[in-house]
Amino acid sequence: MIQINENYTKLQASYLFVEIARKVAEFQKNHPEKDIIKMGIGDVTKPLPEACLKAFHDGVDELASEASFKGYGPEKGYEFLRQAIAENDFQSRGVSITANDIFVSDGAKCDTGNFQELFSTSASIAIPDPVYPVYVDTNVMAGRSGKAMGARYEGFNYLEGSEENGFVPGPKGVKADLIYLCYPNNPTGAVASRAQLQEWVDYAIANKALILFDAAYEAFIRDPEIPHSIFEIPGAEKVAVEFRSFSKTAGFTGTRCAYTVVPSACIVWDSEGNEYSLQNLWNRRHSTKFNGVSYPVQKAAAAIYSEEGKIQVRGLIDYYLNNASIILKKMKEAGYSCTGGVNSPYIWVNTGKDSWETFDMILNKAAVVLTPGSGFGQCGEGYIRISAFNSLENVMQAMDRITQALKN
Ligand code: PLP
Repeated sequence: MIQINENYTKLQASYLFVEIARKVAEFQKNHPEKDIIKMGIGDVTKPLPEACLKAFHDGVDELASEASFKGYGPEKGYEFLRQAIAENDFQSRGVSITANDIFVSDGAKCDTGNFQELFSTSASIAIPDPVYPVYVDTNVMAGRSGKAMGARYEGFNYLEGSEENGFVPGPKGVKADLIYLCYPNNPTGAVASRAQLQEWVDYAIANKALILFDAAYEAFIRDPEIPHSIFEIPGAEKVAVEFRSFSKTAGFTGTRCAYTVVPSACIVWDSEGNEYSLQNLWNRRHSTKFNGVSYPVQKAAAAIYSEEGKIQVRGLIDYYLNNASIILKKMKEAGYSCTGGVNSPYIWVNTGKDSWETFDMILNKAAVVLTPGSGFGQCGEGYIRISAFNSLENVMQAMDRITQALKN
């Protein structure tokens, strides 16, 4: 008899976006005449930048002749992309990350989900609440939790976000070996200051812990005081891993390309206290279970760092940031307390009412899809997340409909 991994039976309900999709499909079936505006799932709407498209086409053309054909590529990614990443995303900010520290992949979802595999099932985990659900679910699947208790699991340390701490919980009172942080944050849109990140790095150094830093929304940071990378914080290269993605930066959600930074200085331990290079461990895992991102996609990703690519990407992000500022303004004018919307494509709105109730009400009255905050954790109850990934026209229309619906 083939037996299942019973940790899967602990997982609660369906994945948040599956439930939203089910409700939206049902609404559309019952109201085929309604033009639904989707501001729920954080998927981009604008096409790939021109520079990426051209490089993508060129990459495909190279596959057409024997002389330039590419088969299996290096599992870590082609040197041309890793070098461009290291120079533009890190060295240009005075951070000494090299191409060797970069692992190119097909998504930050897989990387943030897979990375925990390297650690003992007894490792204690600190997870923000509210949170991008992948960190939680993958640790449950791996057996690091007890059973589900309401919206939570036994055995995890929840880092509670609130308006009091600006949705940037600190390490005070935390006991954890593996710490998940995400800034700019999904779902709250909050960003962490240098001092706040330094507290976490100091904690990790003092406690021989590791920070898994998800910077999937780094490109949205415009405030010069906000760090773009955890590696801008002194000491972080010894105790942190960073996840980046081209999904939201350059419209690669469907094209798929991301990367993880594992610095060579990062050390972890076995049960007897022997030291291991985290980079070597991740290299072993990555090259065993992953066979590289396709060549044309890596060419397209590298084009983000060309002169025209940089301008086009900035234009893309500016477009979404303008949407975010409109949403933020409208929700504040309507009297709601909001987080995010600046340095982030997400606006986190305190409605003071049950999240799914607000979701259902807005869907039914305004035909707009939002994301219920409670889907991101217990601390998200009472909030909704509005995504700025849409056309300006849709954002304007959605905001008119939402503010009208909230008035009634
Ligand atoms: N990390 C966060 C915080 C996200 O919000 C998302 C996607 O929404 C991802 C990672 C996944 O990114 P990717 O498309 O690279 O898998």
